[in-house]
Amino acid sequence: MANLPPVVWSGVLRKMRVADGDPVAYSLADATVGGEPAPDHALAPHLGGPVHLRFTGEIRCTLCGRAMKKTFGDGYCFPCSQSRPEADMCIVRPELCHHGHADHPCRDESFAQAQCFQPHVLYVSLTSGAKVGITRRPNVPSRWIDQGAVAAMPLAVLPDRRAVGLVEKRLSDEGFADRTHWSRMLKGDPPAEELAPFAAQVVARLEAWGERGLLPAADRQLRQFRYPVRAWPDKVASFNLDKTPEVQGQLDGIKGQYLLLDGGVINLRKFSGYRVEFRAG
Ligand SMILES: [Zn+2]
Ligand SMILES: [Zn+2]
Repeated sequence: MANLPPVVWSGVLRKMRVADGDPVAYSLADATVGGEPAPDHALAPHLGGPVHLRFTGEIRCTLCGRAMKKTFGDGYCFPCSQSRPEADMCIVRPELCHHGHADHPCRDESFAQAQCFQPHVLYVSLTSGAKVGITRRPNVPSRWIDQGAVAAMPLAVLPDRRAVGLVEKRLSDEGFADRTHWSRMLKGDPPAEELAPFAAQVVARLEAWGERGLLPAADRQLRQFRYPVRAWPDKVASFNLDKTPEVQGQLDGIKGQYLLLDGGVINLRKFSGYRVEFRAG
């Protein structure tokens, strides 16, 4: 344990807090439930320096705080994954959002009103390549940053989660990409110009379908994001805290929800619920 840098933050991992800027700014944020969470810790000062992350062995549900052995979804315990609206099917598959189905109601009506029955944006973004996606309006632009998009453009606004999910599903069924290849996303930034032709194809489909949520051209503004990356990894090996509870290296950059270390990358969001100690020089 000689020569380790000091502990600068400890807490229960959740996805990093992001702030739009040039470059994008990241902070560690604590998912502790039922106690005082640690303050956010800005990562920018540690870029280029040594970092050391140690998983303490404790895992806590990010919704209820219960101790557990294994997480489901975004750091949820099994009971929460089965009962809480945050873990319901429509979060991953919006076209299956079921509010309004009398025999298959939402798990929580107030959650449905606050989340599902709200305007959603259909967008295109450039992550590993051009793709379509959807998000609730207040999640613009953090959703784009979380996925490591270097450019994004809103194309349509629909009244609720199910409506936008159905349009995205239809686009996906027609062959428009809706996934990110994370290892490709971490090998470099694609040129932002790749997005406009893809956006034009999606707009053409929406027009052909007579989609009423299509935004006027003036509101389909391209946004660009620059990530704090000093060096791209040669090989995109990913660290797994279950197998390697201590991870260290030089912090070469941050993109999406990944820390890029000189010896590999780690998706911090994937370890939501894991209690860690973060050391940095
Ligand atoms: Zn729970
Ligand atoms: Zn829903």
